[in-house]
Amino acid sequence: MAARDLAAAGARVLILDRERFPRYKACAGGIPRRTRGLLPFPIDAVVEESVHLFDISVRNSVRFVRDSGRPFLDMVMRDRFDALLLERAEEAGAEFRPATMVRSVEETGRGVTVRGEGFEADASFVVGADGANSVTARSLGLGAGLASCAALEVELRLPPLRRATFDHTVLIEMDYRPWGYSWVFPKEGALSIGIVLPDGQGRAMRTRLTDYISRLGLSAAEVVSARGHNIRFRRGGEAIATPRAALTGDAAGLADEFTQEGIVYAIQSGRLAALEVLRAAGREGDLRSYERAVDREIAPELRAARLLGYIGYGILRRLRGPWLGVAPSIGPLWKAFFAVHRGESSYHRELQRIPLLPSMAARRLGVP
Ligand SMILES: Cc1cc2nc3c(=O)[nH]c(=O)nc-3n(C[C@H](O)[C@H](O)[C@H](O)COP(=O)(O)OP(=O)(O)OC[C@H]3O[C@@H](n4cnc5c(N)ncnc54)[C@H](O)[C@@H]3O)c2cc1C
Repeated sequence: MAARDLAAAGARVLILDRERFPRYKACAGGIPRRTRGLLPFPIDAVVEESVHLFDISVRNSVRFVRDSGRPFLDMVMRDRFDALLLERAEEAGAEFRPATMVRSVEETGRGVTVRGEGFEADASFVVGADGANSVTARSLGLGAGLASCAALEVELRLPPLRRATFDHTVLIEMDYRPWGYSWVFPKEGALSIGIVLPDGQGRAMRTRLTDYISRLGLSAAEVVSARGHNIRFRRGGEAIATPRAALTGDAAGLADEFTQEGIVYAIQSGRLAALEVLRAAGREGDLRSYERAVDREIAPELRAARLLGYIGYGILRRLRGPWLGVAPSIGPLWKAFFAVHRGESSYHRELQRIPLLPSMAARRLGVP
């Protein structure tokens, strides 16, 4: 998105990626509906399913379905979705160099030098959109101290007879300790099934996901791929920009700690980065204003999501017996959740409706 916006504004842009596109990315591919409002072009061509039903189960003993009434999530496969974004950037005039592994990024007084295998380029600015293991961040000493978690994703071919079970529905299984959940996201002829857990539970992840797939009665389904990846979180003032470089998306830890979603923030930060590069170009090249823009436009929402995550998982851990089903099934909570995903509200706004609770809970729970 950064490349597309910069090229559309007349800048000379080179996109580097170690992969050839379309390429697989371990991701459930659930995009909140509000993402559409952030994009300057339609994405219908790559949306595989729109979802309005949320099927939740807790500790394998409580199960209920909530209906948003209209779609709150779009389902994409990241190979097709990301290829569409790349295509739009190329149409706007950006040049793409695939299969180019970047090894280092060096900031010079007047710009940056990017080096890869058999490759070197000088530029005025660099946008590091290179994911959770960002070389740009490492090279420039950015993003130090970001928190992280791990997620595992399995793509299963959907047995035709089971199709109706997953129509317009996402399934979530809660109650992993100390927090985490498993999911089923429906795609065209396939299911994206995965699990997210705190860092350090890598070994448990595979077993738990296998158990979940077995409980769903899908053990015999063909596994197309199974891959894990980490997701990073920016909780405070971790540096994500220098005068000539800006990190976006996972490289900057811009994923939320309630649902672990990051696509919408990757898009939003990409667009912010483009805007700030254009401003910095006319201002002796200082891109550190991008960090302030993220703090203003994105950080309050991520903080609200983090607080919700702490409250939600904290409550869930303590509930026993019949209480287990009560808290997660409270109607207004789901109304708010759906409204946030559809872009009619935000976590930040929803939390402000409950005066004092957020700050009291944050203090009590020690939310960073
Ligand atoms: C299992 C799993 C499920 C998820 N499900 C969801 C979901 O349903 N919804 C949601 O919103 N978020 C989800 N997320 C989070 C989401 O995937 C990320 O937040 C999002 O992909 C971030 O986008 P990005 O562009 O910053 O990074 P990425 O999508 O990781 O893209 C980084 C790009 O940089 C390239 N690259 C990396 N290093 C180099 C290098 N050295 N040289 C050249 N190129 C390089 C990569 O090839 C890649 O194309 C999930 C994450 C995981 C792990």
